[in-house]
Amino acid sequence: MRDRLFIDGKWQAPAKGGTFPVINPATEEVVHQAPAGTREDIDAAVKAARLAFDKGPWTRLSGKERGAVLRRISEIILARKLDLARLEVIDNGKPMPEAVWDVEDTAGCFAFYAGLAEEMDDNPEETITLAEPRFSSKVVREPIGVAGAIIPWNYPLLMASWKVAPALAAGCTMVLKPSELTPLTALELGAIVEEAGLPAGVLNIVTGLGAEAGQPLSEHPGVDKLAFTGSVPTGAKIMAAAARDIKNVSLELGGKSPFVVFADSDIEKAVEWIMFGIFWNQGQVCSATSRVLVEDSLYPALMERLVAESAKIRIGNGLEDRTLLGPLVSKGQYDKVLAAIERGKTEGAVVAGGGKRPAGLDKGYFLEPTILTDMPEDSFVWTEEIFGPVVCVRPFKDEVDAIRMANDSRFGLAAAVMSKDKARCERVAKAFRAGIVWINCSQPTFTEAPWGGYKQSGIGRELGRWGLSNYLETKQITSFNSEEPWGWYIKPA
Ligand code: NAD
Repeated sequence: MRDRLFIDGKWQAPAKGGTFPVINPATEEVVHQAPAGTREDIDAAVKAARLAFDKGPWTRLSGKERGAVLRRISEIILARKLDLARLEVIDNGKPMPEAVWDVEDTAGCFAFYAGLAEEMDDNPEETITLAEPRFSSKVVREPIGVAGAIIPWNYPLLMASWKVAPALAAGCTMVLKPSELTPLTALELGAIVEEAGLPAGVLNIVTGLGAEAGQPLSEHPGVDKLAFTGSVPTGAKIMAAAARDIKNVSLELGGKSPFVVFADSDIEKAVEWIMFGIFWNQGQVCSATSRVLVEDSLYPALMERLVAESAKIRIGNGLEDRTLLGPLVSKGQYDKVLAAIERGKTEGAVVAGGGKRPAGLDKGYFLEPTILTDMPEDSFVWTEEIFGPVVCVRPFKDEVDAIRMANDSRFGLAAAVMSKDKARCERVAKAFRAGIVWINCSQPTFTEAPWGGYKQSGIGRELGRWGLSNYLETKQITSFNSEEPWGWYIKPA
């Protein structure tokens, strides 16, 4: 575990020498003191990134050369898969197999953007056809400059890769500020890029608190682009800070995503996808399908199976074999989720399953997989993101009723539909006001496909070629090719 910041290719102590504790959420033990970066460190990191962008080799390399470094990063991550996954479990609490999955996805993300970097050499410019024959015009894409990335704690290394990999592929330089709840693997990424031969200053990693390190990064005049994943209130602050200097911003925020299950669905498949949609990663997933809508005639039977199977989910330390549900990430998050369940009860929700600390687990931020029913449509638990293993289920009457309820949200990140009727699935998929739609499943995420939300779930898209575009400027180059004078200025006689 590292106790230095990674700035300008060097491991440096924070300017003010501060630290913050890293707590293992399964044991509540302090496992490390991480370096607490502040405004001074952000300033040094942005200066290093600026210099690397303006004068360094990275931006001037070919796409193939950048791609080669990204591939090395991917290979080193894979070679260190188990130790990175272990750090992720200690830091975040997630079960080891899920952490291994995250690390593999992270390596896959760097490999994917290596491919896109290489492709940039094949299509360096696009010719534009003009209606005016005396002119020719072409378009080139260029790196946007210094990017600032601020990320959350639910997928610590993976969320870093969604921003770092496309930014590096584009030829940008970056300052990364991980969440103070999960700084461990992001710091390892510093060692990984160092080993892969990334030039100094191209990626700088400053751990620290939101107000002390995140805010100065979002306000820094030397940053050209801000990429943020996190909560809506912080996203609003980032956007306000960016507005001052007209910084380019992309935001991936929260959600309260619906999962509409029609009566013709296979009940066992529905139960598995509903559980995966809300209990994977302890429900701390921005796209979690936390509102489940079940057609009236299936509702009683499905509820019975869902409650029965959810009660069998094995809860424990993520490092233990066969654990399916680990602890929530922190005491703060744990208290927030418990308070939401209590609030739900006062609003009329019925706890159909779970809702409390599991028996025998006295330490750690553990919570049973929780199923709430009968909550009013305008209740807190039905409308607000809980970000824990808590699913709210309501019956619906028909397709129109289901779509109305599904779209009745200020969020629009994801939505899912299950039915054997393909035409109905397509219809409902089209009717959802959400950026990510799953048919007959919930949550599988692919690096190749765009990721992001409608409404208050964010602005812009990550992943795929859309993710690369976040870090590219568009420049038109137009030539006047005629030997004739332009003719605006007529010389006086
Ligand atoms: P958060 O907004 O509290 O923190 C996110 C990051 O912002 C952290 O690194 C934090 O230190 C930093 N930060 C906090 N205050 C700041 C400020 N004033 N200025 C600059 N930076 C600041 O969110 P969180 O609790 O870490 O994450 C949970 C939220 O993230 C949930 O709402 C979830 O839905 C969302 N999320 C969204 C996606 C997505 O892809 N849309 C993915 C993961 C998480």
